[in-house]
Amino acid sequence: MTGSMQNWPLLVWKLIDHAAATAPRQEIVTQSVEGNLHRTNWSEVRMRAKKVAQALDRFGIQRGDRVGTLAWNTYRHVECWYGISGAGAVAHTINPRLFEDQIVYIINHAQDRILFFDLTFMDLVTRIAPRLTGVERFIVMTDRAHMITAPAEFECYEDLLAEQDDTFPWVELEETEPAGLCYTSGTTGNPKGVLYSHRSNVLHSFAATQAAVFGLSARSVVMPIVPMFHANAWAIPYAAALAGAKLVLGGPHHDAVTLQRLIVEEQVSITAAVPTVWLAMLQHLTETRTDLGALQRVIIGGAAAPQSMIKAFEDDFGVEVMHAWGLTELSPLGATATLSAEAAKLPRQQQLDVKSRQGRPLFGIEMKVVDENGRELPRDGHSAGILKVRGPWVVAQYFGGGEGTILDEGGWFDTGDIATLDSESCMQITDRSKDVIKSGGEWISSVELENAAVACPGIAEAAVIGIPHPRWGERPLLVLVRKPDSTVAAAEVREHLAGQIAKWWMPDDIAFVSDIPHTATGKILKTELRKQFSDYCSVAR
Ligand code: ADP
Repeated sequence: MTGSMQNWPLLVWKLIDHAAATAPRQEIVTQSVEGNLHRTNWSEVRMRAKKVAQALDRFGIQRGDRVGTLAWNTYRHVECWYGISGAGAVAHTINPRLFEDQIVYIINHAQDRILFFDLTFMDLVTRIAPRLTGVERFIVMTDRAHMITAPAEFECYEDLLAEQDDTFPWVELEETEPAGLCYTSGTTGNPKGVLYSHRSNVLHSFAATQAAVFGLSARSVVMPIVPMFHANAWAIPYAAALAGAKLVLGGPHHDAVTLQRLIVEEQVSITAAVPTVWLAMLQHLTETRTDLGALQRVIIGGAAAPQSMIKAFEDDFGVEVMHAWGLTELSPLGATATLSAEAAKLPRQQQLDVKSRQGRPLFGIEMKVVDENGRELPRDGHSAGILKVRGPWVVAQYFGGGEGTILDEGGWFDTGDIATLDSESCMQITDRSKDVIKSGGEWISSVELENAAVACPGIAEAAVIGIPHPRWGERPLLVLVRKPDSTVAAAEVREHLAGQIAKWWMPDDIAFVSDIPHTATGKILKTELRKQFSDYCSVAR
């Protein structure tokens, strides 16, 4: 027997149809690549997305074909997203911050047939075009006036749209067909592709909209600072359409000055980015004695949010912090650190401790931690193990997945994170499995050490790596960046750490550097840091 309800496939283009029907005049504002502040709305963006779909259809793009985008957060990128998947093709977002060879590898691996790209990447695409074996058309996402420097074979996006009408019917698909493709940033080997389905994207958008994540409504003004090429901008362009919210997009601009101006002038109520962006923003706010206007909530994820950052937002600027955890393979959202009814009764400091964790799983995500033999560990808040997840927006297999199945017998996906779970399933990451420091057979949490160090006055950023040690196997090395004008010394940092961490966790060495290397998605690049300190290792005590 089956239920007697309708079979309404969960398709991504239904999100923008809904936005255009219920919030047609709701704005989409872009600080554009060309420089001007551009305003459009859900109705126009849907109409233009249909033109993108129509053009792709005329080019002979078939269901399931991949179409690449190398682009910032702009209204044109949103049009491409919906237009590509509405034509039945796969919107493949490419991270322009990767090395050139990785970009070429990804485009060729995905077999992208068409590449849409921003003016910013004209030189890059001109250089790599001869190596992009499967790309048939190169489309510059700009108007005719800005095409002056473009090679003759590159086409103009606005000219292309002018040739279409907006009558193209979205392609009716099975909800299990693919809608999007995103590659992991390759910090652990070659980038791997995650092929999202229409169904997984729509379900994930419902989850992203709820109060425990973005808390979006038709009166929200949401600005994803996290780029659309980084794990779908955490679903914001989909969730904003679902809610009929106003969307503010920063284009190629990631500097604190532009972002703060947009937040204030466009009355942004919710925004989201990785901690490195917020670090710069908080410094800018302190230096200029400015504020964040009508901002109510900030989502911090992609790397651990230091408690000092959470406190600064909440206490100094009255902005609620939602610490979020996820990964490309989870579309990306998995958990948020909301306060449970029990946690909400705790004193402020303990609440901050809860908010500093990675949080409780969203409905749709199951979690467990297991030991090295796959045995489930107790949810006691102490036992750290490999974090596994499963759910309808969790990857089942990598795209082109030569590596075979990546799930265990129970259908669980290994996140590569080491974590604890407590009795309310509140998860805390202690490390990524490849970053774990094992000293005398026990794990030292680099994340916890980093959090403690970055709370020390005068410290801007901290990273901990393991260095070989003849007796203990490994010992932690603390690498620090000072805040501008700070002269804080190693002894003061040690003093600050004492009492906050177990004695045997105290780093043997502290090194000050002017800069810590980051990955293309804003995480500390520990592989590079280990290389930088490889000589250091050999002389370490
Ligand atoms: P990549 O592995 O390619 O860098 P992702 O951007 O998908 O790609 O990164 C996912 C990883 O980022 C997670 O497995 C986790 O280690 C880390 N991460 C994400 N959010 C948080 C967070 N709030 N706290 C700590 N680590 C996080």
